[in-house]
Amino acid sequence: MKLHFLGTAAAEGWPGLFCRCEFCQEAKRLGGKNIRTRSSVLIDETIKVDFPPDTYYHMLRDQIDMAAVEHLLITHTHTDHLFAADLEKRMPVCAKGVEHPLHIYGHDLALHHCARELDLKSKLYELHLVQPFRTLQLDDRTQVTPLLADHDRKQTCLLYFIERNGKALLYGNDSGWFPDETWAWLEGKSFDAAILDCTKGPLPGRRNHMNIEAILEMNELFRQKQMLRDGGRLIATHFSHNCGLLHEDLEKEFSPHGVLVAYDGMVHHV
Ligand SMILES: [Zn+2]
Ligand SMILES: [Zn+2]
Ligand SMILES: [Zn+2]
Repeated sequence: MKLHFLGTAAAEGWPGLFCRCEFCQEAKRLGGKNIRTRSSVLIDETIKVDFPPDTYYHMLRDQIDMAAVEHLLITHTHTDHLFAADLEKRMPVCAKGVEHPLHIYGHDLALHHCARELDLKSKLYELHLVQPFRTLQLDDRTQVTPLLADHDRKQTCLLYFIERNGKALLYGNDSGWFPDETWAWLEGKSFDAAILDCTKGPLPGRRNHMNIEAILEMNELFRQKQMLRDGGRLIATHFSHNCGLLHEDLEKEFSPHGVLVAYDGMVHHV
């Protein structure tokens, strides 16, 4: 599996759209890996997790063929994860040479947002309502199981366990420390990579979003339970300017523990 990190920031981006804080100023000054756009990951060019408002910029920056994406997994409807209006740009008036459907997977509210923006009579979109812990087959070599996150009590927020060609990825973003049902489902499972949100950085708290301490504890737990396969890595992403740690600072925190710090454009093969 090729994991291509298109964006690695929390909702406001880093630098934040309107922010004048010292960390956003510093990110602007330093550039490079300190410039973070809203979070999404592209898997093997054809499977994408989330559709943030920076998708157009991701396409430009990394020369992505967005029409090659066949399956779009939506975690939840916060605007940094789903900007449904741009999905309509897949229609013939805006996109030539695109005839195959885009399969969009999500819980009720995510599909409702998509249905509001899209012409569902068109064969270019197929919406799939998913349920936590119910495995679905994307194609003959890929299966996906939605798991429950602890993120926003007003909607069902999902994590995705993605198995493809014998490899497995746990996509845990946005999430706090996993709910008991998710831990129960993961018992006995193993994976080659886990992508987790580290929105809070060194700040306290592990509800709704993770922090450094929670990431390191989960890393330890994954290894103790032999969930991370040989060579498997935990990858932290979805960083907020409020955490105040620039890319190099985050690497200093995580490198001694073997945790990777994602940055925009990073490619990781498992
Ligand atoms: Zn988010
Ligand atoms: Zn800021
Ligand atoms: Zn969110």
